[in-house]
Amino acid sequence: MLLIKNGRVIDPSTKTDAQLDVLLNSEKITELAPPGKISTSREMQTLDASNLIVAPGFIDLHCHLREPGQESSETIETGTRAAARGGFTAVCCMPNTRPVNDNASVTRFIMERAKAAATVRVWPIGAASVSSSGEAIAEIAAMKQAGIVGVSDDGKPVATAKLARQVMEYCQSLDLPLIEHCEDVSLAAGAVMREGVTSTRLGLAGMPAAAEAVCVARDVQLAELTGARLHVAHLSAKSSLEQVRQAKARGLPVTCEVTPHHFTLIDEDVRYDSRFKMNPPLAAGEDREALIAGLADDTVDAIATDHAPHEPALKDVEFDRAPFGILGFETAVALALEQLVHTKRLPLMRMVELFTSGPARVIGMQRKLVAGQPADVTIFSLDHQWTFRASDSASKSRNSPFDNHTFRGAAMATIVGGKVVYRC
Ligand SMILES: [Zn+2]
Repeated sequence: MLLIKNGRVIDPSTKTDAQLDVLLNSEKITELAPPGKISTSREMQTLDASNLIVAPGFIDLHCHLREPGQESSETIETGTRAAARGGFTAVCCMPNTRPVNDNASVTRFIMERAKAAATVRVWPIGAASVSSSGEAIAEIAAMKQAGIVGVSDDGKPVATAKLARQVMEYCQSLDLPLIEHCEDVSLAAGAVMREGVTSTRLGLAGMPAAAEAVCVARDVQLAELTGARLHVAHLSAKSSLEQVRQAKARGLPVTCEVTPHHFTLIDEDVRYDSRFKMNPPLAAGEDREALIAGLADDTVDAIATDHAPHEPALKDVEFDRAPFGILGFETAVALALEQLVHTKRLPLMRMVELFTSGPARVIGMQRKLVAGQPADVTIFSLDHQWTFRASDSASKSRNSPFDNHTFRGAAMATIVGGKVVYRC
């Protein structure tokens, strides 16, 4: 048994914001009560959460753990340790491993590795098409049996509207979301950042916001046609967000996520440094403003990291040649506090929702801090001062534009299945 004492419990699913003690056993939350009301026993472990926020366990809908196949950049063991440090109790890993997670045997391998080596829960996403190459539909039903929680050809969208329709029909009957990396590959071809004044100044090829928005439009139409749940991954453009807002207003099952780097940085921040290279690229200032408005007004359903580790040998090359992606787990909560909560753009309750019940809903789950629910809890501080040093990251990789950034606010403890897996 673990007793979390004297914390401020925030649970968006029940609109709770109160001083409560929380008692956990090895599987479930067993009791919540006002401070001092739960009788303690000798075999009970206690964790003092004075001046800290106690929330349902945070979920990351979008990450890359690189195993199998690219273990020099990350493994399920190192990636989930970084996730725990960032306050995440569960992470959804994208299928673009080597081999691609496009069949049940790869899904089972990931589940088994996670059971043996992971610090937090690992919920795999299966590929939409075989090898994610956009030609033939993957074994979605068999992968669902093996444990996938969604389907995606992340790194790119499902290649054609015809195949996307077919995948959505399967997803609809299996009650899985199609998670789309929305990008018109012809508009984005060769681009390494957002098209604009900065790309011109740096002499780098840019993609317009329309590269994303064109694909969102296609997929919203197909969600309407098939009735399938469409989730737009790492949405970065104002025009895309507007389409999601309209789709929701029309009652379509369309959801979206935004990354911390897209609500923090813009294209003008890009330097000739591959730590600023990710896909979708950092957008314009007006996009960032729109994303923050969407995070506040419920258009956005989740904050997701798109944690994308690349070992230094791959990433520390010319901007044009470097792979897309940056680390995300360890800085996500601190960036959300810095950019959204301390600035008073979002109430704390809403920020917690974007890490808990919001992402849970996208994958058809719940996240609640009430008796009977899994004993997954995230404890964080609004004030704790610390400096992120990529060299100290639990990840195997170092590719973060937030290296040496000092934050106010941090994940302080991560509890999975009643066990403290991280303590600051
Ligand atoms: Zn992607």
